Amino acid sequence: MRRPWVAGNWKMNGLRETNALLAKGLSLLAAEREIDICVAPPAPYWLQVVDAMEGTGVRVLAQNVSEHAGGAHTGEHSVSMLQDCGLAGALVGHSERRQLHGETDVVVAEKFAAVRKAGLQPVLCVGETLDERRAGETLSVVSRQLLAVLESQGPDAFDGAVLAYEPVWAIGTGLTATPEQAQAVHASLRAVMAAFDADRAGQLRIVYGGSVKAGNAAGLFAMPDIDGALVGGASLDAQEFLGICHAVR
Ligand code: PEP
Repeated sequence: MRRPWVAGNWKMNGLRETNALLAKGLSLLAAEREIDICVAPPAPYWLQVVDAMEGTGVRVLAQNVSEHAGGAHTGEHSVSMLQDCGLAGALVGHSERRQLHGETDVVVAEKFAAVRKAGLQPVLCVGETLDERRAGETLSVVSRQLLAVLESQGPDAFDGAVLAYEPVWAIGTGLTATPEQAQAVHASLRAVMAAFDADRAGQLRIVYGGSVKAGNAAGLFAMPDIDGALVGGASLDAQEFLGICHAVR
């Protein structure tokens, strides 16, 4: 049985005052013991949100992390900094990082390795663009993104990790993959993993991201290979995010 996992990616949103209000709303999640719940605030607010979530069971993630241990990397932050601030893990390979910041599969795999080696939870994001979907390349693209980590680090690298399928065309657009579309990709990703290690494939949590809301979450979560959600816009509203968490089967 895979424990459901839901995370809110706040992206570059929020200031101290709004963060405090959102965190207060999320503290209602303390009762949610059947699922893992995380939030990923912008880096300047890690400590604020870690403090605000203390005792609630909600864990805090970074939205990105450097593949380097330290040194001359202006504007970056290392896994040691994540640990020092009490974070539980980091997203790696979010499509906005891949598209807007030129992160390649190789760099994303290095970030994944850095997070894992520090004993934190890596959340590997994969997903195809609309052009790739229209060209029938969805499965080859997401498989390639997953294999970049699997082939270089082996299936045990995914122990405790989360794989997030986020079709780029559904992120922040209001377009959601249908539950059937998402399920098909999740099942294929699990099959890619199973070719390396069937047991670990059965345990791997694969979550969906792309315009998830309280109103469409239950249909997605009803699918056998959808183990939760990575939520962007809707995670900025505590009630909406709570609604998504409550929709987990
Ligand atoms: C995301 O940024 O990971 C995301 C899924 O965004 P949204 O829910 O807004 O589509």
